[in-house]
Amino acid sequence: MEVKENVDLFPFNTFHIHAIARYMVTVTTPEEAREIFSSELFRKNRHLILGGGSNVLLTGDFDGLVIRNAIKGITTVQETETAVQLAAGSGEYWHGFVMHCVARDFGGIENLSLIPGTVGAAPMQNIGAYGVEIRDVIHSVEAIHLQTLDTRVFSREECAFGYRESIFKQALRGQYFISSITLSLTRRDHRFNIHYGAIQDVLAQKNITSLSVRAISDAVVAIRTSKLPDPKVIGNAGSFFKNPSLDRSAFITLQEKYPDIPVFPGENDLIKVPAAWLIEQCGWKGKTIANIGVHKNQALVLVNYGGGKGHDIWELAMEIQQSVQEKFGVLLQPEVNVIR
Ligand SMILES: Cc1cc2nc3c(=O)[nH]c(=O)nc-3n(C[C@H](O)[C@H](O)[C@H](O)COP(=O)(O)OP(=O)(O)OC[C@H]3O[C@@H](n4cnc5c(N)ncnc54)[C@H](O)[C@@H]3O)c2cc1C
Repeated sequence: MEVKENVDLFPFNTFHIHAIARYMVTVTTPEEAREIFSSELFRKNRHLILGGGSNVLLTGDFDGLVIRNAIKGITTVQETETAVQLAAGSGEYWHGFVMHCVARDFGGIENLSLIPGTVGAAPMQNIGAYGVEIRDVIHSVEAIHLQTLDTRVFSREECAFGYRESIFKQALRGQYFISSITLSLTRRDHRFNIHYGAIQDVLAQKNITSLSVRAISDAVVAIRTSKLPDPKVIGNAGSFFKNPSLDRSAFITLQEKYPDIPVFPGENDLIKVPAAWLIEQCGWKGKTIANIGVHKNQALVLVNYGGGKGHDIWELAMEIQQSVQEKFGVLLQPEVNVIR
């Protein structure tokens, strides 16, 4: 394994921020990961595990060790006529893995097509889109403890998934490196989720009456391509903030003042309101400040038009957070991992 020094992380984060990592190493197997975690270099430096860099904001240079994950491989764990269990190395690209499943007509993750990043980061924040989350199909997550180097297999329940949350972001934050995940998918009798009107609209436009894994994946790709800025073209990390969940009384107070406020069902009797709507009401949508800003079609997406600095994007995020709190009394929480 080659340890590189003073590496510009520009190609490794979708916000396209120039930030220098003091050291960087790429791991291609769990054994290499263990070797690095037991090294003096790891012990003596702060570290950052990086997958596709599509959910991080680098606010400055990183004076430590960046560990890039390139652990590949997709294997069939078991297969019956109706179901299949697949294991994937955590450095596989998520969308490539989804395409692997779509090509074989394996159902369960077609709604999660085109989400950037790696397989290993997917359980970190329980990725979700169009009514499906990875927790719906996770069988288990294999992870290496960064200090003891022990491997632990977490069942779905042990992952403690929530909306954009898991045990890896909460109680066990910073303790584990996810090395592979195993998903339970369907081979027959797929349970399609087309509750989102946008999916139904695309299927109707294309005259698709017989649902298939591929038709839904294609529809999701078409919607995402038309709505979200392509990080290859404009630097961004998807939704910057999570949708806030309010208890009933807080929501009713807000609704009395703002009767048009949209709403989604949340977890545990909470009510989720779209952060994008709150941000838009504060006048941020489409705002540009020098070479950064808020996307013109999607107020939840902060963008770097080129040459923007991570700390400027963070300051913009804080201004947005403050204005939403002043107007609505709601504190937005970042979904993106802010690296200081
Ligand atoms: C255009 C765009 C659209 C997006 N749409 C969605 C969406 O619809 N739904 C959604 O949920 N997300 C979405 N995202 C966010 C992002 O794609 C996901 O969070 C993705 O899972 C991040 O993967 P990554 O490999 O890029 O993670 P990174 O950004 O590299 O890392 C994210 C965090 O996970 C940690 N991490 C990464 N890999 C590991 C590992 N193997 N072990 C331990 N820790 C690890 C990192 O240290 C960091 O804290 C979008 C992003 C973009 C740019």
